[in-house]
Amino acid sequence: MSLKPDDQHKINDASIEYGSLLEKHNPLRLFSEHIYPIFKDDDFKECYSDNGRRGISPSLLSLITILQWRENLSDVETLQACNFRMDWKIALHLGINEINIFDPSTLCRFRRRLLDHDKASLMFDKILNLCIENGFVKKTGKQRVDATHIVKHINRIATTDLLFRSVKALMEELEKKYHCVYETKVPRDIQERYGHKFSSFGMSKQRRSDKQAEIIQDGLVLHALAKDSKIENDLLQLSIMLTVFRENVIIHEKEVNEKIFIEVEEVQSPKQTIFDPKDPTIKIGIKGKTTWVGAKCQIIETAEPKGTINFITGVIEEPAEKSDQKSHEAILDNNGKYGLVPEKMFADSNYISASAMENYRRHSTELMGYFTAPSTRRPGFGVYDFKIDYENYSAICPMGKNSLRTKLEESGERLIHFDKSDCMVCQNFTDCVNTKRHKAKQLRLSKYFKEISEHRKMEKTESFKNEMKLRPAIEGTISELVRFVGFRKIKYKTRKGRQFQCSIAATALNVRRFLRAVAV
Ligand code: SF4
Repeated sequence: MSLKPDDQHKINDASIEYGSLLEKHNPLRLFSEHIYPIFKDDDFKECYSDNGRRGISPSLLSLITILQWRENLSDVETLQACNFRMDWKIALHLGINEINIFDPSTLCRFRRRLLDHDKASLMFDKILNLCIENGFVKKTGKQRVDATHIVKHINRIATTDLLFRSVKALMEELEKKYHCVYETKVPRDIQERYGHKFSSFGMSKQRRSDKQAEIIQDGLVLHALAKDSKIENDLLQLSIMLTVFRENVIIHEKEVNEKIFIEVEEVQSPKQTIFDPKDPTIKIGIKGKTTWVGAKCQIIETAEPKGTINFITGVIEEPAEKSDQKSHEAILDNNGKYGLVPEKMFADSNYISASAMENYRRHSTELMGYFTAPSTRRPGFGVYDFKIDYENYSAICPMGKNSLRTKLEESGERLIHFDKSDCMVCQNFTDCVNTKRHKAKQLRLSKYFKEISEHRKMEKTESFKNEMKLRPAIEGTISELVRFVGFRKIKYKTRKGRQFQCSIAATALNVRRFLRAVAV
């Protein structure tokens, strides 16, 4: 498929002939005036070959894709909109008589083409840069970040089916990478068994147990074979299969008449970390009382005061179990990519740590948020009940006793010891920090303790609380993404695909907001 220019002059361009039918502030009229001109076929030339049949204009397909996601339509509905909706024809500068200019499957192939050529963020980049050029996104403005879960189109499958799929995935990898080994060393009966689909639905308990033993036996044969052929480390699916075995079943080996037989015991409520052997990045995520199977996405957007339209400046797909604390580097990289240096970044307490704050300061950004409240589970004195002198690293305990000595640990932590003779006779000994009996009390202060204490004091001020009111509005953006542009359900299998889908959804939302902003 090539990108040869279309020599035919477009006749009956709907935007010229009927554009004025739409009122001035109509979003699709604004789309044709502001968004249509920024997409050029040349931006996609790496995705097409120099030879072959002329493909449908990729800039047109991108614009169609954006409108499709903006209205959350299927591929077929999108074709119908291009055929029969005048506002779409105006927005896309289509000829008034142009009908069926593409097949619905073209949209799917176009998305695949973008993915295969690492152009997944092209549409998002273009719209975000347009927002920056128009002054809707300030390079040194404020931002906020939060994560939301994205659900993979997969349910927890029956243990027997999961075991089968893990062995089948290994067989397929073996056949693809080491065809010779597969042909000569893998027993024929095993090859046949995994050449078909399998479902344990409707099987009796006994048959299921026998089938599990057979699958495990096959898996162990393949493991031994890979070891003998010294290809163990090249087979990605091998370690996945062994993990699936380990998590889901207990294997017993029995010797009968000098022959080894396998007996399998299914683990009750297994702690599964792999749900699809072909995509081990799909994990179980837990946030509060919500659990889901899939991944999650960091959403970064501008955080300008109430009444200003905010735009998404980044979407970062991540594994479901990854801590928000570990996302800061990706967030800072994302800002760097668009030349954004926000003055402040608002986040919830999951993101806040002294080391993260220091990291942001190095990038000229202040990380704003509340530290997690100190645990109140244990009654008695906590570290924040002591008066600490940061200059001399000494402390006075709640009973008014002075500390005895201090020590700096290799980790950067500071230990402040109290006098054993004071503590042993203290009536609050059992309720004081660290409960070890017959020992003098000691405070263990983190490297950042001073900064954290000062921040905690600042968190209580009215001005800080007022500033933090900018943070929760990101929940509205997440809700808009989920309700209007189909963000929550992920259709792609790979991480790259999931990032692509998040990126298109964010593009569609930015376009919705951009059209609202230019209409003002
Ligand atoms: S146990 Fe020791 S450090 Fe704690 S309050 Fe009593 S005297 Fe102070």
